[in-house]
Amino acid sequence: MTTSPRVNPTDSAVRIVSLYPDLLGTYGDGGNAVVLSRRLEWRGIAVEHITIDAGAPIPDSADLYLVGGGEDGPQVQATRELELSQGLHRAVDKGAVVLAICAGMQILGHRFPDATGTSREGLGLLDCETVRVDRPRAVGELLTSNAHLTTPHGRIDLGPLTGFENHAGRTIPGPNSTSLASVEVGEGNGDGSEGVVTGTVVGTYLHGPALARNPRLADALLEWVVGPNAMSPLDDSDIDALRTERFHAARDHELAPRRSWRDILRRS
Ligand code: GLN
Repeated sequence: MTTSPRVNPTDSAVRIVSLYPDLLGTYGDGGNAVVLSRRLEWRGIAVEHITIDAGAPIPDSADLYLVGGGEDGPQVQATRELELSQGLHRAVDKGAVVLAICAGMQILGHRFPDATGTSREGLGLLDCETVRVDRPRAVGELLTSNAHLTTPHGRIDLGPLTGFENHAGRTIPGPNSTSLASVEVGEGNGDGSEGVVTGTVVGTYLHGPALARNPRLADALLEWVVGPNAMSPLDDSDIDALRTERFHAARDHELAPRRSWRDILRRS
């Protein structure tokens, strides 16, 4: 569904835009918008969430933009559309916060490989480059060390990040970026680090969706927008129990994190 890019009627509502779920919606990352919206509503903060499909104008006045993961072909199309629109570029210039997952992170970087392995130009909003390597596709649970995010409100401790990954490309962070954490289980960026942060743009390989499994990351993004005073504590005990279970699953290699799709198909 495409909602036209109207400006929110109540100035105080947090405006969240999901970009191109029609192209970058393969891995369930649409759930990140639901998590952000609920965590705002539970705190009594109004939220407006709109979804923009490829080809529709991108509003540049929102607070938070979400870009999901997807396959190699749609990734190229999404890059073309985002470049044509320039709406996301303008929003970032104005200080909007962006969360980009996997393919989303790759296309927001300087370069990424297409389905043939040819390097394509990305949007350059994240200081990183994604390359194809002679290693199996990274598929499985991804678990990091204690992560953190530094915002204008200070350094926010996120605890370990948990999720699953499914990507062929590996990402080389540039000098104008920081990572979120180092990898404990799985592949992440491919150099032992996970995630790329440049300014207000945050990229990660975590699916899950990432914010359902990492509520502190969700709250760090929200705090960036609404400030710490609005962030009343929530009861995350259920999610903490899920997280503990996922930490064990990743460490026990319950889901065989390093098996490639080729291995899986050969054995089935
Ligand atoms: N197509 C990209 C890759 O395989 C990203 C996949 C994804 O978004 N999960 O590297």
